[in-house]
Parts: sequence; C-alpha cells; structure tokens
Amino acid sequence: MNISDQLSLTAKQQPDKAAYIFQDKETSYRELEGAVTKFASSLKGLGYGKGDHLALVAGNSPYFIIGLYGALRVGATVIPINPIYTVDEMSYILKNGDVKGVITMDVLLEKFEHMDAAIPGIEHYFVGETGGKPDWQQSSLGEKMKSFTKTVEAGGLELERPELDDDQTAVILYTSGTTGKPKGAMLTHKNIYSNAKDVADYLEFTNDDRVIAALPMFHVFCLTVALNGPLMNGGTILIVPKFSPQEVFKISKEWQATVFAGVPTMYNYLLQTGDGMEETFKQNRICISGGASMPVALLKAFEKKFDVIVSEGYGLSEASPVTCFNPLDRPRKPGSIGKNIKNVENRVVDELGEEVAPGEVGELVVKGPNVMKGYYKMPEETSVAIRNGWLYTGDMAKMDDEGYFYIVDRKKDMILVGGYNVYPREVEEVLYEHPNISEVAVIGAPHPDSGESVISFVVSDNPDLNEEQVITYCREHLAKYKVPTSVEFLEELPKNTTGKILRKNLRDKIAQ
Ligand code: AMP
Repeated sequence: MNISDQLSLTAKQQPDKAAYIFQDKETSYRELEGAVTKFASSLKGLGYGKGDHLALVAGNSPYFIIGLYGALRVGATVIPINPIYTVDEMSYILKNGDVKGVITMDVLLEKFEHMDAAIPGIEHYFVGETGGKPDWQQSSLGEKMKSFTKTVEAGGLELERPELDDDQTAVILYTSGTTGKPKGAMLTHKNIYSNAKDVADYLEFTNDDRVIAALPMFHVFCLTVALNGPLMNGGTILIVPKFSPQEVFKISKEWQATVFAGVPTMYNYLLQTGDGMEETFKQNRICISGGASMPVALLKAFEKKFDVIVSEGYGLSEASPVTCFNPLDRPRKPGSIGKNIKNVENRVVDELGEEVAPGEVGELVVKGPNVMKGYYKMPEETSVAIRNGWLYTGDMAKMDDEGYFYIVDRKKDMILVGGYNVYPREVEEVLYEHPNISEVAVIGAPHPDSGESVISFVVSDNPDLNEEQVITYCREHLAKYKVPTSVEFLEELPKNTTGKILRKNLRDKIAQ
C-alpha cells in the first residue's frame, strides 16, 4: 500500500465527503481523486515515472495536494522545498536532488528564472495560477512551462498504476542538519504510509475529523499529521494558506475543526491574541504539538484558556517523522513527548549505544518502519545516522519508569559551564513561568573562565522588566551555574517558516 493508493481507496469508500476545504470551498474525495489521476496521467504522458524526481515548491494550497499525490501516483519521487528558500538554497537542492520537473506557483517563478540556466536537468515547470503574476506566459522559462490546471485538464481518468516496492523512495526531505550542506532524507512508500497509519491510529482519527493544516505543507509534520493522517480515514483537511492566529480562529470556528496541529510558537501566538476567542476550539478533540519542545507553562495556559487537550509528540524528518506521542486514553504528561507510537521503538542510549536506566540522560535512538532508507547520495552520513538498525536522533532524552520520554535538548545545544551540563530547555522552562515573559530562547556563548556561559533572549510584555530582575528570578529557581549571565530583550525571536526558533541566528548575534 502507498499513500496515493490510500487516497483512491478512501475516495471509493466515501466519494462525496469533503477531502479538503480551501478558501471556503469544499472539494470532495471524488473530485480530488479525479484531479490526482488526471495530473498523474498527464505526467505519465510527459515521460514521468519510477525513478524521476519532482520538486514541489508551493504554498499551502490544492496545487500542493494534487501535485503531491499525482506525482506519487506515477511512482515518481517528490522533493518538497520551502518556497521562501533563496535562489542559492533552492538550486543546491534541485541539483543535488537530480530534479527533472518542478511543481510550483506563478508567484515563485522569478526564482526559477534566475536559476534555470544553471540546472539543465529540469524539463518542466508545472505552474499553478494564483492570479499573482498574470503575465507568467512571458517568462524566460518558455516551453518548459506548463499550466498546472491545463495539465490536470489534459489528463485521462484511466491510469495504469506502476508496480511500487515498499522500498522505493516516495519523498526526499532536505534537512539542514547540524553542519554543512542540507542532506536529503529518503523516505520510502512504506515509511510514509506506515507513519501516517500509525499516527492516525494512535490519535484515533476518524472520518468525522476536520484537521487544520496551518503548518507549512512542505514540512513533514504537516505532511504526515495534517495531510496523510486525515486521508487515511477520510477526514477533511482545512487548508490555511499561511499561518496567522486570526486565520486559524476563523477557519476553526467556521468549519468546526476537530484537530489542530502546530509548533509551540503557533500556540504562543494563539494564546497571546486569543482574548475573546475562547470559544474557537469548542469542537476541538485534540491539539497536537510537535517540532520543538512545548514549554509546560504554555501548554497549561493554552489548555486552560481554550478548554482543550494539548498532546505533545516528537519526530524528525528522518523518521517520517513521528516516533512518540502522549496517549489520548492514558495520562498525558506535560513536558513529556509521550510514549512509543505503535510499531516504533524509542530508546535512550549512552555513548557506546547501550541502553541507560530510566531517569538517566542519553541520546534518543529510534527503530521502526518509519525510519528512512538513508540520505540521498550520502552513504557516509547515512552510516553515521543509522547504526545497528537504530536511527541516532541527535537529541538528548530520558525515559521515566512508565515509558514516557522527555527531550532534554539537542545534543549540540547543550551548554558546558565549568564542566557542568546545562540544558537550555531547563532554563527556558523556568523563564516561561515568569508572568511577564512570553517567549524565550537560551544559548551558550564562549566565556574566558567557565568555557561557556548561559545567555538568554526574552520577549516581554512589560517594558519595566529589566535584566537584573530576570537574573534574580532565575537565581531563585535554578542552580547558580544555570543562571543566565545576560538577558537580552527582543521584540520577537527569530524563527523559521515552520515556527522553530533559529538559535543559530542568536548565536551569530552573540558572535558579532
Ligand atoms: P525536523 O527534522 O525539521 O522535523 O526537526 C526534528 C527535530 O526537531 C528533532 O530532532 C528535535 O530536535 C526537534 N523536535 C521535534 N519535536 C520535538 C519535541 N516535541 N520536543 C523537543 N524537540 C523536538
């Protein structure tokens, strides 16, 4: 089974059910299945099939959904790319990923015009029309350009499906990794399908679910939880073109959303702007948090304000992505990423790869049908990431006696102060408890005496709050070596498009 075939099955079972809602318009599973089949049939006619790579560079929209499942339907490999990447970042991926076709939108054409000559391997650009750039026919990309809509219209409804092995690469996700150039994590059909199924089962998705897709679709969190997950059981995807609290409040209320998935910074925005919106999530069954650690104070405040359940999970691109979740039917533990989801095993190990006792900190490793095949064209990096069948996540964690895991921090984010380990997360949790602090990030900076020192960046709603007060507050709650030596006040923290805090930018700031 692969995820695109799952779509056909769901469409057969409930053709008239809304598959997605975009700009207040419902599209049924029958219509979606038809568009996907036609797009796939056109792709096939143009010579696309098993082994071909198609980049998917589009915002949250039907183009993304039809492009994704259509390309998978012919057996091609899809490479989703963040549309806001610069020309350099994007051309690296298009070249490294041996891309033959690009599915995109007119508003992004200019970028491709800049890089096309340097990437001769690209044969077609399938361009979704948004009305954003009506003169796109004049583009220097000339004959290579095809209207996405016309490509769909030109396709037939009969399509012979290719024989696909479980082991065939379905998606390549480029992750920035810790050093060097981005690496392409190859996820097979089995990886993608099994994780979507296991997540849908674990979170008890049904066809009554209406899931808000406000995370960027190119990110694997959205792909598995908010696209593939609902599709498993015939739920409805509520497309949010671009995250804003107002948009989420509006769509959630209008379409009675039952599931919201977001990263902690999204929860923070919703909380900060949520006065008068307390009823928004009335129909909500579960709010899912992942992608970064959810501060306990934020989780509790959000649950209280909106009267919802927030369940935190954990994942990474290399694991398609989900490995852990807080269970719905057993206690959810704030601060924990929960327990193994079905079929996936997490372990905490020491430097030698031996499992450590509950309560002890070590590196989190993962095994299961969701773990990637490897990095594209990078066998060495693959053998570092996957050892003896276990994927090394680069995250430090501990497990309690009941099998709940806790992320302590990224291995590389750990700060060493005079020989003591400081995990930024612990300091951040304390700062989040402060009544006037709404956002915080803690990093390490070189220090002549102690090797490194703890630096904190905070966003506060109180202009009178000063550095000394924050440090005094930390002294009351933390051992001396963990207390920040400096506190910088920022209007907002730097974040990527997924909403993850960019610690690297903060480190650069310190270096300057
Ligand atoms: P990505 O491959 O972009 O999905 O990033 C994966 C990384 O995000 C993981 O290795 C973790 O460092 C981080 N991450 C994801 N979920 C959580 C979580 N619940 N708590 C802490 N870190 C998380």
